[in-house]
Amino acid sequence: MDMRQDNKPSILEPVFRFWGYSRKTYRDMVGPGCAIQSERLLFAVPHYGALRFARDVSELINTDAYGLVQFRQSWLLIDETLKPEGKPLAWIETKKGHRYPIITRTSDNQFHFWFDVDRTIQFVQNEEHLRHAAPLYVKLGVNPHRLPRHMRDLAFHGMHRLRQLRGSSGSIGQGFAAVDMWRGLIHRIVESQSNAIPTPFWPDGKKYACAASHDLDTVQCFIKPKLLEQFRSIDEDCGMRTAWMVVTGNLEPGRTALDDLYAHGHEIGFHGTVHDHRLAFAPPAEMVRRVAEVRSLVSSYGTTGFRSPAYLRTPSLYRAIDVALSYDMSMHDAIEGVCRPSPANEGCGTCHPFFLHGTNLLEIPTTVPEDWQYDLMGINDCDKILSSQLENISCIKMRGGIANALTHTEPEPTTKPFMIQAYRQLMTVMARDEQAWLATPGEINRWWRLRVESINQLWTQGVAYAPVSASRHDLLLPKKQRQAAIH
Ligand SMILES: [Zn+2]
Repeated sequence: MDMRQDNKPSILEPVFRFWGYSRKTYRDMVGPGCAIQSERLLFAVPHYGALRFARDVSELINTDAYGLVQFRQSWLLIDETLKPEGKPLAWIETKKGHRYPIITRTSDNQFHFWFDVDRTIQFVQNEEHLRHAAPLYVKLGVNPHRLPRHMRDLAFHGMHRLRQLRGSSGSIGQGFAAVDMWRGLIHRIVESQSNAIPTPFWPDGKKYACAASHDLDTVQCFIKPKLLEQFRSIDEDCGMRTAWMVVTGNLEPGRTALDDLYAHGHEIGFHGTVHDHRLAFAPPAEMVRRVAEVRSLVSSYGTTGFRSPAYLRTPSLYRAIDVALSYDMSMHDAIEGVCRPSPANEGCGTCHPFFLHGTNLLEIPTTVPEDWQYDLMGINDCDKILSSQLENISCIKMRGGIANALTHTEPEPTTKPFMIQAYRQLMTVMARDEQAWLATPGEINRWWRLRVESINQLWTQGVAYAPVSASRHDLLLPKKQRQAAIH
């Protein structure tokens, strides 16, 4: 059964490739007479609703790793005209009161998926439900960094309160990672019915990856070097090298500090030209011009990564970044309406890297709850912050994902003493975990591409080159820079 006539991946092939199973395992597990059935649903459209699971499926999903899924809302691509056969194991209940079976089990013990798993994953991962409209303050031309601190606080907490009243402000942290859950379920079915071994996610037998980055939003980080130094000393005391995301408008005052960071093995990333929150919504010519300013970072520091100011992102910004850089960290994995300015109900639903649709840009989501989130929630206790972060990291570890932590080396809020203390403790725990691969985001980017290449070879030639060690593949050496592509 060769289903690759139209050059599109076959049904569920992206999930099997994600895990790094072989084509043979895929053929043994998916298709007529196999354990997993699914079909190309030409008329499937996005539906939003609550997921419900029968006991045998929720046990397979392993609620420790994927959270309580019984009452979670999610997007699914389903075809309303289908008439599912077999015993229903899972349903979606839409707001209009419709209830569709989405997974059934037939009498010969086959799992049948009645929604388009591949397009659902693509839809959720790429946040296709977001409208990408500029927030009001951006439309009004207000730069939050120019506002006095008390006005910023008032606006920030006001928005948070509004969201609470609308019932859209939930807990902090991982939330519901739909993509990880669907992939996890298919993996569990394969595991329960075959001896196939997937490709490891990380080098040297590590169970998950740990990375950290710092956003340097304002020139204050360089004018008051202590702000930056206290984070740097924590990173280096823990044996970590991290990514420092810089606004190019502050490059000259920051030059000495950045040169020194780079010389000591840290990575310098791009955080826009000015931190005015407008980049994602700029007209095309302005966007291209602003993104092209990354050249100064690429030539000085071999920069490959980006995070958008205030996480504001649009498909057109991703296309512009794709020309210049190699990876992005503007998305969260799952965040339950904690606050603006980041988009509401955002989250790519996974703690693993993935290629943003239609680009060669690798998304490395930011996954560990952050300083500003705790600040906004009014949490100012170091132990509470740490235990909440570690709870999230334990889920990420179970899934084999990336614990990607972010702090801001700004006067507010990260440099409050309890925040600094929480960061030191977090980094200490990550650095001591022998099952963690400590890497910079750039190293993760290079490693993941290598893994994808290896799995491609497994599918085309039947043999992978088994990436087991980062160093064995010169992983840590930067690849050829992509400067030529910038105009
Ligand atoms: Zn920022």
